[in-house]
Amino acid sequence: MAYYIFVTGGVLSSLGKGVASASVASLLEEQGLRVNLQKLDPYLNVDPGTMSPYQHGEVYVTEDGAETDLDLGHYERFTSVVMTKRNNITAGKVYYNVIKREREGGYLGATVQVIPHITDEIKSLIRELDRDCDVLVVEVGGTVGDIEGLPFLEAVRQLSMEVGKNRVLFIHTTYVPYVKTAGELKTKPTQHSVKELRAIGIQPDIILCRSEFELPEGIKEKIALFTNVDKSAVISAKDVEYIYEVPLLFKEQGLDRLICERFSIPYRHVESKWEKVVHILKSAREEVKVALVGKYVSLKDAYKSVVEALNHGGIANGVRVRIIWVDSERCEEELLEEASGILVPGGFGERGTEGKVKALSYGRLSKKPTFGICLGMQLMCVEFARNVLGLERANSTEFDPFTPHPVIDIMENQKNIKELGGTMRLGSYACVLREGTKAREIYGREVVYERHRHRYEFNNTYREAFEANGAVFSGLSPDGRLVEIMELKDHPWYMGCQFHPEFKSKPFEPHPLFVSFIGACLKAKAQ
Ligand code: GLN
Repeated sequence: MAYYIFVTGGVLSSLGKGVASASVASLLEEQGLRVNLQKLDPYLNVDPGTMSPYQHGEVYVTEDGAETDLDLGHYERFTSVVMTKRNNITAGKVYYNVIKREREGGYLGATVQVIPHITDEIKSLIRELDRDCDVLVVEVGGTVGDIEGLPFLEAVRQLSMEVGKNRVLFIHTTYVPYVKTAGELKTKPTQHSVKELRAIGIQPDIILCRSEFELPEGIKEKIALFTNVDKSAVISAKDVEYIYEVPLLFKEQGLDRLICERFSIPYRHVESKWEKVVHILKSAREEVKVALVGKYVSLKDAYKSVVEALNHGGIANGVRVRIIWVDSERCEEELLEEASGILVPGGFGERGTEGKVKALSYGRLSKKPTFGICLGMQLMCVEFARNVLGLERANSTEFDPFTPHPVIDIMENQKNIKELGGTMRLGSYACVLREGTKAREIYGREVVYERHRHRYEFNNTYREAFEANGAVFSGLSPDGRLVEIMELKDHPWYMGCQFHPEFKSKPFEPHPLFVSFIGACLKAKAQ
């Protein structure tokens, strides 16, 4: 049976609980422990697949095709764990399971209630994961005090009793604001939030305090006193420039040692792998600018994995990546001119697509490195059809169902499926790379597996015309029917992929396409 670490959040949201949980897990992995992580989300959607990025940020896709919370992306980037659909539980999923069972007669005779039926279901979904790891880090989404989070907190409280207190730790993340007029960091919100947590029967063992500045000893003492936690367990989590600094920040304050001691696990002195990454990021002198053309640029969380993958490409090339956010509805050309490379990420819906086509056109003609991901690749094909093949009004049927030139279309066998999400190609699929192409050279392999999340595909009717005019379909599905990668012959770096390479990039295993793209941007900058 595993040890459990429950991470709760107080005071306000967006405190970086996901990065904190991932950092804790990564430090424990460096101790030689097998870790796993799970995110509990209190909303009623069964998964975040149907939610707007404005509501929820990026939807992270796992190998097995689950559409999950973006924190799972942090979990994969920080550790070696491969996430699955079981690693993200929502209140919607829990209620769905319980109600389905009730309809099937699974509770005959009983009144089905939040306690015990909902809480039991939560506990069993958590315990499904504790078999193949030494430590399971469970991040409880939401903020303590919210009504909707209560069944989850009650479930983890019960679980802590069942597995035994010596196998469980509660980490509470809070916010310690700096009040300018008083010139002071204030502990009151933390005190109140812990009080709230204790009222529902949970005494935190460790408090992680997010703040603008490092907490002085006096403030740590005060928090310790009011929250009934050892002073050494009050950890300062000041704002940092790069998220990869967070594990080091925790390690400096002995958080990994503290957790090992509490679990009676021997502690080893190891040099953290994060030292090297942070060193590269901080010492990089050169900067390369990449224009990211999207419609959610006001909410940076919507492109989390893309941004991180670009950073990984930067780390591999020893440079800093600066993103120029380009709103696809306006698509100002000066911004594209300023950048050394252009990236058009994935997306759904028509808004902003014409701006993206414009940006891709600029990238093709200016010969700047241009990278299209999923929708970005589809729009590369639309742009090529319109401006190279002269097929005016060419489009994807997602945006113009009556286009005379549907270069991107839904496959015939998908057309009869009604359930939303049912027609999507989700998760990992094989892609075969053609010899002699840029993609094959970059990957250095014949077959790769990449994650998908899309409904539309390249329309094969147009393959010949494309190829006769300088497009290369360098990656195809194993049966040759689906286009996975499109590149251009007479361009230094113009590549679109139907999959999402950003989901598989890690600081220590940067994705080859991002490494190559940033390398090409560097070259373009030097010219
Ligand atoms: N909207 C497009 C499709 O469904 C692209 C999806 C994406 O970019 N993830 O095919």
